[in-house]
Amino acid sequence: MIRKTISALTALMMLLTAFVAAAETAPEPDYTTGTPWLYVDLIGNVTEETEANLKDNFALAANKEKLLKLEIPTGYPCIGIGEERVLQTQKDLARMFTEGTAVTREAKLAFNLYALLTDWDTRNAIGVAPLKEQTDAVERIASLDEMNRYFTEVAPEEQLACPWSCSGEEDSTSMGQWVISICWSELLLSDSAEYANETPSGKKQREAKTLLAKNMLVKLGYTEAEADAKIEACLSFERLLAPTVYTMEEQTVTGFEARSTNPRTREEVAEAGGRIPLLAYIEKAVGLPAFDRYNVLAPENLAALSRLYTDENLEMIKSYVIVHGVIDRAGDLDRESYEWKYVCDHVDFGEVTIPDDAASFSQYVTDRLPWAVARLYSETYLKPEDKERLTSLAEDMVAAYHRIIEEAEFLSDETKAKAIDKLESIRFLILYPDDWTPYSYDGLEIKTAAEGGTVYDAVTAIWRYKRLQKAAAFGKVPEATLWTGVSTPQKVNCNYDSRNNTVFVGGGMAGGSMYNSEMRDEEVYGKIGFYIGHEISHAFDRSGAMTDKNGNRVQWWTDGEMAAFMEKNRKLADYFSAIHPWEGVSWNGDTKTGEACADMGGMKCMLMLAKEKENFDYDLFFRSYAECHLLKLTPEYAMAAKFPDVHPLNYLRVNTVLQQFDEFLDFYGIKEGDGMYLAPEDRVNIW
Ligand SMILES: [Zn+2]
Repeated sequence: MIRKTISALTALMMLLTAFVAAAETAPEPDYTTGTPWLYVDLIGNVTEETEANLKDNFALAANKEKLLKLEIPTGYPCIGIGEERVLQTQKDLARMFTEGTAVTREAKLAFNLYALLTDWDTRNAIGVAPLKEQTDAVERIASLDEMNRYFTEVAPEEQLACPWSCSGEEDSTSMGQWVISICWSELLLSDSAEYANETPSGKKQREAKTLLAKNMLVKLGYTEAEADAKIEACLSFERLLAPTVYTMEEQTVTGFEARSTNPRTREEVAEAGGRIPLLAYIEKAVGLPAFDRYNVLAPENLAALSRLYTDENLEMIKSYVIVHGVIDRAGDLDRESYEWKYVCDHVDFGEVTIPDDAASFSQYVTDRLPWAVARLYSETYLKPEDKERLTSLAEDMVAAYHRIIEEAEFLSDETKAKAIDKLESIRFLILYPDDWTPYSYDGLEIKTAAEGGTVYDAVTAIWRYKRLQKAAAFGKVPEATLWTGVSTPQKVNCNYDSRNNTVFVGGGMAGGSMYNSEMRDEEVYGKIGFYIGHEISHAFDRSGAMTDKNGNRVQWWTDGEMAAFMEKNRKLADYFSAIHPWEGVSWNGDTKTGEACADMGGMKCMLMLAKEKENFDYDLFFRSYAECHLLKLTPEYAMAAKFPDVHPLNYLRVNTVLQQFDEFLDFYGIKEGDGMYLAPEDRVNIW
């Protein structure tokens, strides 16, 4: 069922008009001018007439027929093999809620929340009343002292927003020790660079958030002029803070970890905060203990915030709190607010269609109560024989990495021994945990509508539960076998967590085109196997080289080895900087090196395993690898989401990786002069 109210449509039309106006001022780029390869993922770039030769552009040749058939569904900015799998798991989750029943206590929590979310009569009857109570409370604040009482005496989940945040965690410079991190101010725009140089996608985001905030404020009883003034005050405050908030690029380049590690004592934190009640906020509101190890991630941001935190700026601070709050909580209210919020959150995705409730709210419950849903999902959809097959594959891959490390000419024997020790200590979390007891939500209650429960209160209760859990866990080393803090089985994803030296393989990957029980080994190697290899490689990329097997951030290589590694990393960065998806677009190649290194390491590992197999079908393997990166997307989405992403673009993950290996070049007879050829001396594979 597709529902749209007039107001959501109006919101959408305003956004589209703004977007068209922006597009009219700049000439349309020629998207077919990519070098050294055509950007094949981009909608419209590949047609029947496009010449495809696997020696020149393997991603194009291997995926051409599939690309021609692939259609981006309405309401989405892209579609590909990963997205299809995500859509399938979403359907599976929705089916669980619409057709399944709750047996366990935590399943009942999930079903209660789902029932509250889909009960539009109650939600519409309540309207924005719970939010209005909170905005009114902030409006009544008349001095900075009262503002301080708000930030320290109201529980964080009941505050609308706060211009600083903190979290208690194990110290990544010394695992087993704990630290309280103070994070930089959250801004309305996801990249602080947008405040100095607004891009078309930043403009769209700003306009979408502004529109949502304005609609909400007017609905809460503000006049249009008051709403405009409030939003402008919030943005003025953010423009003052933005130069001190790390940009997306700063957060992804080499050296960021060191830059954001700034140890402070309790006294230093109190002093840096000025009139900001930082310690009282941390201890009274968040519930963390009085402690003596702090890390200020962005000291300049804290300094700016403390300069701006004055009685004169009270209205600006209140505006920040209110505007952020109404944007954050719009989705938990009536239908109209929910739809405004949905349109705003999906502004990068082209035309927005509100999905049906089952799809939307099964995902919503999954995001809020991930472990309750995880157990239901695993028991419904995942198979022990798949877990066994992938576990055994991971063991083979560890053996292959042994040899990769042994053969690395830039490491001493001593460092190789440490690398192998780290490799053997990697813990694999494959598909789902064996024991579900640690994943219950003991103590959490979600009241049904009949018991007086509302979505708003349920979401607040979940936040409170999670905050108290985190506060209680502070200082205690978590059980090594725990999956919490990593990821949940329903995720279509794999990842490597350097703090725990774990490789996670999401259950959402299993059962479809990324992996299924019927697949031949060649396909498994080219798809899910490659991803597992990619994740293992993160233990030895530019950040893995600075993290030991216990998750401590220490350099465990000699300076000479590190220099040799960084030289390889620089060559890899230069190689990516020279690539252009279309004329006029460039990026800092260093932002891609961590993921590109992992891609190449993953491929090398799979090729090693392939060598041990008799009659291995290399064509099927390489084509499976290309298919695994199949994607069709809009240029807007490419610019907004894919260019800033730390992963190379999909077609580049195919072409730049394969051309590093003789196994690939020789198998297809690729020679100098072919588009896929890369001379041995120009290759950039680190491992
Ligand atoms: Zn990765």
